[in-house]
Amino acid sequence: MRDFSQDHRWLSINTATIRKSKGVELPLPQIIEACVERDIRAISPWRDQVAAAGLPLISRLVKQHGLELSGYCRGGMFTATDAGGLQAAHDDNRRAVDEARELNAKCLVLVVGALPGALAGKAAHKNLALARDQVTDGIAQLLEYARSAEMPLAIEPLHPMYAADRACINTMEQALDVCDDLDPGKTGALGVAVDVYHVWWDPKLQAQIERAGKERLLAFHVCDWLTPTTDMLNDRGMMGDGVIYIPQIRRWVEAQGFAGYSEVEIFSAANWWQQEHGETLDTCIQRHRSAV
Ligand code: ZN
Repeated sequence: MRDFSQDHRWLSINTATIRKSKGVELPLPQIIEACVERDIRAISPWRDQVAAAGLPLISRLVKQHGLELSGYCRGGMFTATDAGGLQAAHDDNRRAVDEARELNAKCLVLVVGALPGALAGKAAHKNLALARDQVTDGIAQLLEYARSAEMPLAIEPLHPMYAADRACINTMEQALDVCDDLDPGKTGALGVAVDVYHVWWDPKLQAQIERAGKERLLAFHVCDWLTPTTDMLNDRGMMGDGVIYIPQIRRWVEAQGFAGYSEVEIFSAANWWQQEHGETLDTCIQRHRSAV
């Protein structure tokens, strides 16, 4: 396993981690500046942040600073109640592929969606199997376009607590079943994003990481699981502050040949988003060295 204790060469910052500084929204150009000042070489930005600043400006800043994108967040949300909704999702996902390509991202991360309407507060139905079928169909359709754009798609299995509203792919095994179904040749066009927050609890995790192999391991996201967790979405912990044995998972991933960035992705409304963002980044650097 690579030694992270001496530097932060392989640290990437998911830009949601410092989406806010002292509770105030921080524009993406300032996030980039703060990362560059600290010799952080990679980021993973969110589409809404890119849209707010404008894709041309962000593309220019990324190139100017020689930044890499460990991923682009995010595509997905494939489910809908009718053909028009499915088509709208597909169109939006094609735009996400185009943006990821413009920014030269390593992959487009997919949060696949679940019961339509649930995220807004009212699920249109309870048929999770239908949602899963729509997700597989949606990925199959997008994969053709993504292949032509040479943009790998990374399915991110989400913790089962999000099965109703954000993602009905909840384990590595499920994600890899879809990968094997749609890309049996392991061409590198389709794989997974392993986020320790979502998969750390899974008794099959090591076996599924081994099953994935280098070709399917497209991204590695880190943060920590706090006890207690007070919010299902926005109470992620800094690496080292919770119960996830992160180095163990990184060892498994790297044993397969993964040699990419370790991407810090922390949504923390009550804690880290209330801190000054430079201090948060400095803590990310420290913990990347000591707890990842
Ligand atoms: Zn993630």
